[in-house]
Order: sequence, then structure tokens, then C-alpha cells
Amino acid sequence: MMQAVMTTPGVIEYREVPVPEVGPDQIKVKMKKIGVCGSDIHVYHGKHPYTSYPVVQGHEVSAEVVEVGSNVQDFVPGDKVTIQPQVVCGKCYPCTHGMYNDCEVLKVMGFQTTGMASEYFVTEAAKALKLPDHMSYDHGAMIEPLAVAVHAVRRAGDMEGKQVLVLGGGPIGNLVAQTARAMGAKRVLLSELSAYRLETAHTCGIETVNPNERDLLEAIEDTFGSDRADYIFECVGINQTMDQAIRYARKGSTIMVVGVFGDLGTINMGFVQDHELTLKGSAMYRVEDYVKAIELVGDGKIEFDALITDHVPFTRYLDAYKLIDEQKDRAMKVIIDMEE
Ligand SMILES: [Zn+2]
Ligand SMILES: [Zn+2]
Repeated sequence: MMQAVMTTPGVIEYREVPVPEVGPDQIKVKMKKIGVCGSDIHVYHGKHPYTSYPVVQGHEVSAEVVEVGSNVQDFVPGDKVTIQPQVVCGKCYPCTHGMYNDCEVLKVMGFQTTGMASEYFVTEAAKALKLPDHMSYDHGAMIEPLAVAVHAVRRAGDMEGKQVLVLGGGPIGNLVAQTARAMGAKRVLLSELSAYRLETAHTCGIETVNPNERDLLEAIEDTFGSDRADYIFECVGINQTMDQAIRYARKGSTIMVVGVFGDLGTINMGFVQDHELTLKGSAMYRVEDYVKAIELVGDGKIEFDALITDHVPFTRYLDAYKLIDEQKDRAMKVIIDMEE
């Protein structure tokens, strides 16, 4: 089978490798779609701090089961699935306390261990989740980023009747806004600078503000009233938006740190103390977040199509990165098609 190997930053070689054998607790899948995300681009540019080369990428996937191991009861050939890309130890403190997404020696497929950019892939059946038959493979590949959003929204707390501010309208910010709404938020406002991403949020039915055009605090108070937002999600990963989150929080707001920060930030700790803010991080997801993500999509509560901006065939993998670099904010989610 063909496998796409990034041998060094910016270079992908296609290698012919044997199709792996299926163990008793494993399944073999035929890969259908692979989503490309910001972390993949860091690997492409050689700027991902925890990835060495050569590396096989691919962690947002949909696939079809083609073979199941002798002990596997939950899957049959023909099932549509997505696969959780985390490889965890099962022994450390987070793993033994229901937080395996924070495993002390966490490996993620496509970064620290072999990803799924190959025609076939063999995985533990326990990492696979069945997708409904009517779900398209494109949407199946979007379940992973949606699970990131679901995890963040659940960690924030109960959404019922709450007011939610989302800072950042990239794929994750957009999906956080949609998820908060789907899980009962009364009002959701998304702040973003890119006209294209604001338009995408509109298409998804999300209220927006461009803080370059309008004072952010004024927009917050117009939308939510003087009580502002109960929950604020930082989905960019830069100091400026983290600062906005803390500055424009209400006393007692909860701030979720969802963005991936490349630099050390400086924030107003005085506000965190005096305004009794709750500051929580959110990292990846657990199986229950995948289950909820699949359920939300099944219930028609998430708009994916507006986020899928481009398709690139597997044989031209690098074009996905070139396209994202060229298109910048206009490339939301690029999907690699395994079959042309
Ligand atoms: Zn990703
Ligand atoms: Zn662990």
C-alpha cells in the first residue's frame, strides 16, 4: 500500500509498504478522508515542538472497516468509522483518573507515532468509533476537530441559558460556537478579524463582531447586556485575545483556554484574582466527546460544509499545505481525498 511520509519539513515521499496484519483486538480500515489542521502545518514548517522526522501524518480521519480481528465484536467490514489518534500509557496519574487525554507520555498519531496517511491502517478496535451510515466521509473526518470543541464546551460547564463569547473564528472557534449553541447556550457571539471567517460564521448562523471595526466591549454589552458573558473561549492562542478574555470578562466568568500558545503570554493576574475568574485549559478530547460529537452531527446541529473549503487528492498531499499557506484565512478545513 502507499504511505505518505514526511521525511523532513516540507518534503513528502510516497513509499510502498506492506499492509499491516490485523491482531485479535484490531481492525483494518481503508482510509477515505483526512483533514488537515494547524498542528499539521507546524509539522510541515518544521515548527512543531514535539515531532521528529520522518513522520507519517494524518489524525483527523474517516475510513471503512475492511477486516476485523478474531476478538472484535463491535465492528464488521463495511462499517464507517473514525479513529481516536491518542496513544496513552494507561498507568500514569491522568490515565488512572479518567483524564487519559492528558497522559504523561501521550503520543498522538501523526506527530509522535505513525499517523493515518496511508491507504490502509490497522488500529486497536477500542480506538475506533462507528459513524452513522448516512454520514458522509467528509463529515466523518470533521468529528475529530468537533470533539476538541465538545471537550472544551463540556469542561466550561452547563451551557443551558448561558451567554458565550468565542474569541477566534478558525475551525475550532467556529465549532466551539456551534457546539455551545447546540448544547443550550442562550446567546453566542464570535469575535474574529478575518472577513472570510466572519462570513463563514454567519453561514453557520453565528452572531459575530469584528473588533477592528467595532469596540469589542461595546459589542459584548450590546449582545449580552451589562452581565456580559458567562463563558469566554479563547480559540486563537495569542496574548492579545487572552488579554481580551480577561479584560472583558464579567466578575465570576469562566475563561476556557482552547488556543495553542506558541509564546509565553502575559495576562492581568490582578483581574483573575479580583474578579474571581475561573481559568481552565482544554486539551484534545476523550471518547465521550467523540460520542457526543457524532450525536450532535446526527441531530443536524452542526454545520460542517461551510468549513470545508478545499479538497486535495492523496497523491498531492503537499498541495494541501501550499494551499493553506497561500489562502491563509480563506482555507478553513482542507480535506485529503484518498480516492480521486
Ligand atoms: Zn488536528
Ligand atoms: Zn498515561
